This record gives sequence, C-alpha cells and structure tokens, in this order.
Amino acid sequence: MATPVEVRRAQLIVVAMVIALILGGLVGYIGGGGVKDLKILGDIFLRILRTIIPPLIFFTIGYAVASIVDLRRLGWILALMLVLYIVTSVIAATWGVIAGFVFKPGVGIGLTPPAGYTPPKPATWQDIVLGFFSLDFSELLSVGGALKLIVFTMIFGVGVALLGDAGAPIKGFLEAGSRVFIKIVSLLMYYAPIAVFGYSAWLIGVYGPEIAKGYVKLILASYTFTLLHFILVYAIIVYIAGFNSLKYYREQLEPFLVAFTTRSSAATLPVNMRAAERMGIPGDIYRLTLPVGATVNMDGTALYQALSAVFIAQLFGIDLGLDKLLLLVLAALIGSIATAAIPGGGLIMLAFVLSTVGLPLEGIAIILAVDPILDAIRTAINVSGDNACSALLTRLVHGKPPTSSY
Ligand code: ASP
Repeated sequence: MATPVEVRRAQLIVVAMVIALILGGLVGYIGGGGVKDLKILGDIFLRILRTIIPPLIFFTIGYAVASIVDLRRLGWILALMLVLYIVTSVIAATWGVIAGFVFKPGVGIGLTPPAGYTPPKPATWQDIVLGFFSLDFSELLSVGGALKLIVFTMIFGVGVALLGDAGAPIKGFLEAGSRVFIKIVSLLMYYAPIAVFGYSAWLIGVYGPEIAKGYVKLILASYTFTLLHFILVYAIIVYIAGFNSLKYYREQLEPFLVAFTTRSSAATLPVNMRAAERMGIPGDIYRLTLPVGATVNMDGTALYQALSAVFIAQLFGIDLGLDKLLLLVLAALIGSIATAAIPGGGLIMLAFVLSTVGLPLEGIAIILAVDPILDAIRTAINVSGDNACSALLTRLVHGKPPTSSY
C-alpha cells in the first residue's frame, strides 16, 4: 500500500496537473498555432512512458500469473474479468449508437479529407485473430505489440508456476522487476504536470479553430455520452463492488488526467496501478486486470467507434437498419479489443468497424481532424473502466470489497 506521504504527494501532483491543464489551454487559446512546439514537453513524457511499458507488462503480468499456484483459480479470474470487460464495452458501444441518434452530428457537415491522405487498410478477421500472436520475439518489444506480449507473458507465467520451487527465483525476479518499474513511474510523475501543460497548449492551440468550424456536435455527443458512461455505469459497478463511489472517482482523477493528455492507455497503466493501490485493490487482482484491461478493455473506444460510424453514415446519407446497428455494436466491441493502447489507435481500427458495416472508409479522414480531441476523453474512460471492473472483481474473487487490509 502507498504510504500517507505518497498519497499526499499524489494529490499534490493531481492539483498541479489540473492547474497545468487550464494554464496550457489558456496559452493555446491565446497563442493559437504559434504554440504548437510546446507539444514536445508532452512528447518527452510519453516517450519515457512508452519505453517502460513492455517491461512493465512483462514483469507485472508475469509475476501475477506466476504467483497463482492454482491455475484453475487463474482461469476463473480471467474468465470473470473477460465477462466484465465485454459487458461494459457492449454497453459503451450501445451508448455510442444512441449518442449518434440523439445528437445527429453528421447531419449538415461536409468536409474534404486532408490532402494526400489514404485511409488505412481495414483489418480482416484473420488479421485480428493473429493480432494476439507475435510473428517473432522482436515484435513483443514495442508498445504496439502489447496484446501479443500479454499472451506471451501469460504462457511464460504459467511455465514459471508449473515449475514450482524450481521456478521460485524467476518469480522473485519478476516481483522485483515489477516494483522497480512502478517506482520509476512514481518518479516520472513529478514531471507529469509539465507534460500536461505542453499537450494542453498544443491541443487547444492547433485544434481550437477547427472545433469552431463544425465538429461541435460530434465532440459534444462523444463527451456527453462518454462521461455518462463514466458517471453512471462505473458508479453502478463500483456500488455493486461494495466500494465508495466518491473514493473511486477521487482516486481515478490522476489516471484520468494522464490518460486524457497522453491519449494512451498503455502509457497510463503505471499511474492506473497506483490508483488501484490507493483504492485497496489487492495486487493479485490489479496486476492482472490492469495490464490486460489497458490493452483489451476500451469502453471509450467502443463508444467512439460506434458513434463515429453513425456519424459517417449520416454524413453520406446512408441508412443503417437494426441489423446493421447490431452488427455495429459487435464490430465496435471487437474493434475496441483489437485497438492498440496508443494515441489514435482507435482510428486505425475504425477502418475495420466501417468496413464491417459497409460504410465508406473516407469517413476516417473526416474523423481524423478532430481525433485527438475525441481520443482524449475515450482514453480517460478506457483506463477508468479497468479500475471499476477491478473493484468488482475483487469482491467476486475475494468475497469482500477493496480495502486497505489486503
Ligand atoms: N488512445 C486510446 C487508448 O490508448 C486508443 C484509441 O485510440 O482508441 O486507450
């Protein structure tokens, strides 16, 4: 558990980040495109985080799996976790469709794709299945390969667990490794407010004028329903978990802001782990649920992909019948699972979603202009959902809500 001093420092960092967010926005608003170079302040932070992601995933998941002596118990935890992740993502995708019909963002907007832009090739179902398995070892080493690294690490952890005593030194190594990386992250957090300032100035400076031109409805629809999912669905989940919702929202603020500004669930993983610790979610749960969740559980992305598809259909005057809408919810679920936890990852998988329901891929270019703004909120919710589900899983697996006594 985090010590009181660490908790206090984390709170101060959050305050500093909120101030940085507002200050950066003001600087961006006044400076416009002239402040675009401030983006580098955030890029530095993001690069360091991205570099430590693969080892962090390896050590934390590896340790979690290796320490589960009873492999049937592991199977049980994983199965429950996946059910929770899938149910919440389906709800989110449904919100996305509803948001599209309530706000009708595509009606009356006509935009030309950016010059020279070619839409990404949509993934086939084979690409998606094979996306869980690496071609070779080197593929495991980048953030984009996180899904593959998780599968590999689980196999590795099972190997260590099956070895019993002979595997104990490796298990100790995995534990020490995960502690080291979590420590590095807590040091890096002192720099976070500066990164938030840089990104916030850049976002408002560069995209501010674009917002005014007409994407307002799409952004409003996205923010309204994404926040609704955050406030309504997660409050219910956390309530069923027997955990204080207000405490959940308080502890979630730090990862929320980091995700909002870095736009990467993977980069926010370490910060989300700190929040889980403060909430009292036991290590055997969050060391498994958060790295896996960062990669596969993306409620915000599912909502965004469904909403974007409805938006594009409206834009091109295409009528989506009930069968297509059901297919869309399913496609958004799969698309969100297959999305890489990096900035803009959801836009790439949007190509898969659009082609599944037969919508023009040109829509990708239209979304592209405002994607960073939509990405910010969807990523914040992507990471928040992981901790809400972890709280519920704690109750289901341990029979009592998260507390500091684990
Ligand atoms: N940026 C998102 C994330 O990392 C993925 C996406 O683009 O939807 O969670």
